[in-house]
Amino acid sequence: MAWVVTPVEDKACPYLWSLTWEGDALAYFQHQWMAEQALDAAVEHIGNPNLYVGTKLSENFQRRVNRIISRTVPCKTCGAKIGSPCKRPSEHATTYENPHEDRRDRMDAYLLSLGD
Ligand SMILES: [Zn+2]
Repeated sequence: MAWVVTPVEDKACPYLWSLTWEGDALAYFQHQWMAEQALDAAVEHIGNPNLYVGTKLSENFQRRVNRIISRTVPCKTCGAKIGSPCKRPSEHATTYENPHEDRRDRMDAYLLSLGD
């Protein structure tokens, strides 16, 4: 049993890659690079989901994925540098370290620059 990245077979689905455990998808991605980064995060931070204790696996995973974005591109909205999470005006990190829209746009541009 292991986390794997697999192509999505459904041509109507806008997401091209899925991160799965034994056929169950945890997340979908539009670029293979991002899916593989998320795979590393799942292996390192989640491990075997069947042995996971607690109820916040998806929240923790989302936080890890947001950190991939944070360590890849900076944010113009809040001024966060590469490697730092987006911050609210109060200087606290945003909920689940969710990146601001500017940072998501920059991440999309980064992924597009990688090509297929
Ligand atoms: Zn930000």
